Amino acid sequence: MKLENNTYNIQGIKIDELAREFGTPLYVYDASVIQEHLDRFRAGFSSVDLKVKYACKALTNMSIMKYLLKQGTGLDTVSLAEIQMGMTVGFEPNDMVFTPNCVDFSEIIEAVELGVKINIENLSNLEKFGKKYGGSVPVCIRLNPQIAAQSNNEKVDWWHKQSKFGISLDQIENVKALEAKYGLTIDGIHIHSSSVIMSPEIFINGAKAVFDIAMQFEQLDFIDFGGGIKVDVGDGNEVIDVLELGKQLDVEFSSFCKKYGRRLQLWFEPGRFLVGNAGSLITTCVLRKRNGGTEFIGVDSGFNQLIRPMMYGAYHEIVNASKPNGSQQKYTVVGNICEIDNFAVDRMLPETQEGDLVVLKSAGAYGYSMASNYNSRFRPAEVFIVGGEAHLVRKRDSYEDLVRNQIVID
Ligand SMILES: *Cc1c(COP(=O)(O)O)cnc(C)c1O
Repeated sequence: MKLENNTYNIQGIKIDELAREFGTPLYVYDASVIQEHLDRFRAGFSSVDLKVKYACKALTNMSIMKYLLKQGTGLDTVSLAEIQMGMTVGFEPNDMVFTPNCVDFSEIIEAVELGVKINIENLSNLEKFGKKYGGSVPVCIRLNPQIAAQSNNEKVDWWHKQSKFGISLDQIENVKALEAKYGLTIDGIHIHSSSVIMSPEIFINGAKAVFDIAMQFEQLDFIDFGGGIKVDVGDGNEVIDVLELGKQLDVEFSSFCKKYGRRLQLWFEPGRFLVGNAGSLITTCVLRKRNGGTEFIGVDSGFNQLIRPMMYGAYHEIVNASKPNGSQQKYTVVGNICEIDNFAVDRMLPETQEGDLVVLKSAGAYGYSMASNYNSRFRPAEVFIVGGEAHLVRKRDSYEDLVRNQIVID
């Protein structure tokens, strides 16, 4: 099943109409794709009390956040500003969880004052939390369960080896000591696996390990399995079958709850799964050029607007929306940043000319939210398509935006 938006139109609106109306480069998000992914995520769960918390760092646009609120999700936040944005669009504090890492304790105090759920991922802050609040404010603890990852990706491997996240399992006794010392109310256990788990079986094995740990804590209200669920980006790599995962976890979690003696909530914090496939970065080919043996397509964007290919080696499907049926050729697609700036190397694409619209797909997650003004270029506008209508949900930056906080001294 392919859920991605059609290549040349989004909900019936042609790419070239969008480009004409809003200009390029342009981020476009398709609400129906978000909806389909959310439905698909929920579909496997039939008996457990599932709570989906949208991890809004993936795409921190308040119209998108509000849309997900209307679909009944909560919010996973990693900074105080994300909490503030969540409140602005109407999330109840209690439906938001604050899951930062490496923050000063003062941020956690502020989050407690705002009334959001608190997730703590290190012993140092847990100790400070105990000293300040005792058991009066419930707290969730983030563990680093080192679930065996099935991945050949070096970056992911590297991620695991130097992972700074969570409290490692050999420190559970320290957590329990703090719990006893301060009378902590530990109401949740959290893990987040960062896009490395490809099969329901591996996930379920990890979940069982978490259930064993959970049995050691008596006051739990929920278990939070975090995010990290990949979407099919068209690169031929396997992704986890979420329907199957849901079905299996539904059964396992229900039997865990029986054993635990209480019906707990089951939380997930998907980011990219909900919004990844929903977004496209629409660019214009501004330059065709040959250097040595390489044919370059130069577009009016760059890694300042979509950093994932350069930063993570991420694959984005690329299409020529203007001339989809030209003869296939091998191209390197590059951006305009004044250093190596590849979107794709040696990619087969239809023959492309200057002026053609070149679309980078599956750019909804960690696209705009990781964009910068490097090279003093404006971040793109963002358009959200809901019910067949295109809404501008963020303007393109202006020169004034770029220089707003600069102070020129003599
Ligand atoms: C980033 C993050 C997520 C979302 O990750 P995705 O890979 O986008 O699903 C969820 N939970 C936490 C704690 C995160 O830091």
